Amino acid sequence: MRTRQRICKAKKSYPDHATAAAVAAHFDHAVRPYRCDRCHAWHLTSRLKGKRIPRPDRNVPPDRSVPNTPD
Ligand SMILES: [Zn+2]
Repeated sequence: MRTRQRICKAKKSYPDHATAAAVAAHFDHAVRPYRCDRCHAWHLTSRLKGKRIPRPDRNVPPDRSVPNTPD
């Protein structure tokens, strides 16, 4: 899982797993510490219940509007 740099900068970072876990324990919802491969610090996931990521539909029509004109 890659972290976008924008999110990385917006998030709080913790120097190690223990610190992140200690902070995570104060949250009401379940958050999970993870290592960031951008800044090599630890962030917390903000996984809230009921949050849904919509799947992109692969139903895009082809962009071939070239008419099939026979010679
Ligand atoms: Zn980061």
